[in-house]
Amino acid sequence: NMINTNLPTAELQKLDAAHHFHPFTDNSALGKKGARVMVRGEGVWLTDSEGHRILDAMAGLWCVNIGYGRKELAQVAARQMEELPYYNTFFQTTHVPAIALAAKLAELAPGDLNHVFFAASGSEANDTNIRLVRRYWQAKGKPWRRTILARWNGYHGSTLGGGSLGGMKGIHAHGGKIDGIEHIEQPDWWSEGGDMSPEEFGLARARQLEEKILEVGPDNVAAFIGEAVQGAGGVIIPPSTYWPEIQRICQKYGVLLILDEVITGFGRTGNWFAAQTFNIKPDIITIAKGLSSGYQPIGGSILSDEVAAVVGGDEFNHGYTYSGHPVAAAVALENLRIMQDEGIVEHVRDVANPYLAKRWAELADHPLVGEAKLVGLMGSIALTPNKATRAAFTSETGTVGFRCRERCFANDLIMRHVGDRMIISPPLCITPAEIDVLIERARKSLDECY
Ligand code: PLP
Repeated sequence: NMINTNLPTAELQKLDAAHHFHPFTDNSALGKKGARVMVRGEGVWLTDSEGHRILDAMAGLWCVNIGYGRKELAQVAARQMEELPYYNTFFQTTHVPAIALAAKLAELAPGDLNHVFFAASGSEANDTNIRLVRRYWQAKGKPWRRTILARWNGYHGSTLGGGSLGGMKGIHAHGGKIDGIEHIEQPDWWSEGGDMSPEEFGLARARQLEEKILEVGPDNVAAFIGEAVQGAGGVIIPPSTYWPEIQRICQKYGVLLILDEVITGFGRTGNWFAAQTFNIKPDIITIAKGLSSGYQPIGGSILSDEVAAVVGGDEFNHGYTYSGHPVAAAVALENLRIMQDEGIVEHVRDVANPYLAKRWAELADHPLVGEAKLVGLMGSIALTPNKATRAAFTSETGTVGFRCRERCFANDLIMRHVGDRMIISPPLCITPAEIDVLIERARKSLDECY
């Protein structure tokens, strides 16, 4: 009684709306306008069930870093499934894919980040981080150091822990948040910088961390978590003054620094990790997404020697059935091999600057576009009714971002909108010719909203 998967699109959409409850979606609306059914991928291109060729400028959910359709990953997965489809990494056992991947990550990660705790997603990895940093301070004899500081409009996943670390009020509104997490404001100069220069504003926003530490009491704070560049919040690239000041404050108060690199890791900003791009020295890095280019669900936390020594001094009561899953680990390892052999990180640097940077900046000529910013291959444009005042659209005008995203979708370009920011994060293998198509379709979509 298998479902026939060759049904016409409308039939598939009907079944989808009837039985598939989608994440981050108004499910009631799916009955009226069905979800687009994706069937195939190749490089930066997707094909839907009606045969449209769509340029995916979001790499799925910021994850298909090497692009779609790499058969090597399928072959490695098949081989691993035949050899050892599953074994756990609990209770004094291990296996070759987990060993090899952990060693490879220790080699790629900067500084003394040499120890990997595996999870199956970014959310799980950040939940691990909550328990890890609290356990760290318990083990150091200061169990009262348990508050974790994070940022409004940050995104760290949607499990209850990850969603609580994140600063998305819409997520907190659905089910609440766990205790012991406090938020400071984000370094979004375009929307919130007022009369300050970006550099002044970056410092001011970083200093909110110090104010919050003093308010909570320095001896109560376990850690600060932030994305190097806020992704889901709208690709908010912080002013250059921001991270050095955050680093200084964390050091001053002995607060652990967790850098969430779920999006920025694995080449996105033109280095293996954004810690290198922004010269940040975290104690823990969160990874997922690009680790396997999304071909298998896998994530993790990379720990410094010190954190691993303190938490590893005794049993750590935490783990997932799929921590270090052999098939996911083997696929991730092959993904990293391809990235290295094909020089994908170098390609990001080559294609991002000057080519994409120049073409992206051209969009700022459009009457709707204010700021156009990029770091590596992640970027955003801020839509505004008034470039000079950096004004926001109001409830009367409606969010132009939503309309623009719909126009992009109709023009076979996947870009996302966050409020009135349009964002991109394409597969890292994108070529200059494909960047031209991206810009052309984006401009056409903007014209159709104006
Ligand atoms: N952290 C960041 C920065 C993310 O962007 C995401 C997902 O978008 C997550 C964590 C959560 O990862 P996952 O969806 O794999 O649980």
